[in-house]
Amino acid sequence: MSSTKVRVVVRVRPVQLADSAERVWVHCINDSTLHTLNHRKDGQMLAYDFQSVFNPKSGQRSVYSSCVQGLLSHLFSGENASVFAYGPTGAGKTHTILGPPSDPGIIPRAVRDIVDMRNTKLAEAPSNKIQLSFSYLEIYQEKVIDLLSPGAVPDLPIREDYDRNIFISGLQEREISSVDEFNLHFAPASKNRSTAATKLNSRSSRSHSVLILKVKVTLPGRTLTGKLHIIDLAGSEDNRRTGNQGERLRESGAINTSLLALSQVVDALNTNQLRVPYRGSKLTRLLQDSLGGNSHSCMIVNLAPEERYYYDTYVTLNFARKTKKIVNTVKTNEVKG
Ligand code: ADP
Ligand code: MG
Repeated sequence: MSSTKVRVVVRVRPVQLADSAERVWVHCINDSTLHTLNHRKDGQMLAYDFQSVFNPKSGQRSVYSSCVQGLLSHLFSGENASVFAYGPTGAGKTHTILGPPSDPGIIPRAVRDIVDMRNTKLAEAPSNKIQLSFSYLEIYQEKVIDLLSPGAVPDLPIREDYDRNIFISGLQEREISSVDEFNLHFAPASKNRSTAATKLNSRSSRSHSVLILKVKVTLPGRTLTGKLHIIDLAGSEDNRRTGNQGERLRESGAINTSLLALSQVVDALNTNQLRVPYRGSKLTRLLQDSLGGNSHSCMIVNLAPEERYYYDTYVTLNFARKTKKIVNTVKTNEVKG
């Protein structure tokens, strides 16, 4: 049985200063340490250590090869894996998970590698059968919406089969055998995401998007199924700062329920607690068989380095350091600056 720990890494995106008066708030010191200014005490720094810190110069390829590539072989032996991007709106989650066509992120790289791995394995053992398929959904206001068939059913039920595998009843699944086939179904589906303008980022998403890539290997006498969940989480920002009201505030409330539940699950796994609170939200229920158990998980914490994000950065780093077994003991020691 493999480890149930969730690996937590941090990625700091390039600086985008609002004006010349704004300060850079987050500094990457090396590949495991970052410093932030201390908002309680001007001129002082807080130091945080993580397993990996990706600085603004780290490219999509290095994040992918460090965090995701090594998970893929597990899918072909019937194990599950999951990758999340966590952080405030504007910090680089969608860039990391999807990326622009000119600088592809995790999804296009993972799909290409999984297709290549399938082709290699089939060339080695042509009598085996390996099926690739995917589903794509969002969790919006604690409702599960099928992005491959939007509008069909407003909230799909999450169920558990006799082998304790989690599945979503009625969720569409598309079989693919090439990257082109994937893009054909994925591109229109990704336009279906619920997005709404907030003060922080007009293209921000208020929902969690979940891509499920499934690998089914049929061998003589047995079938192995592995799932990879790739998740672009909703923004973790504080409502008071985004000025959310009414509908936006209700959305944020639901988002925070899921993110809070996720942090409690990660915390429980990383501190070896016996009871893991998967039922705290739709997101964690969906991930019950992909977080913990025989699964492999990585959470990428995205940070925006500018001063205007200082509060979200502070809250996000405090969340990340709760995963005590993974993040080294946090040094909140002060460095004279
Ligand atoms: P989020 O999904 O967390 O709201 P985005 O991924 O939309 O954030 O990123 C916000 C902006 O910053 C976008 O314009 C994006 O292109 C840019 N950006 C984010 N991360 C990087 C990066 N590592 N390198 C270059 N640009 C980035
Ligand atoms: Mg986004």
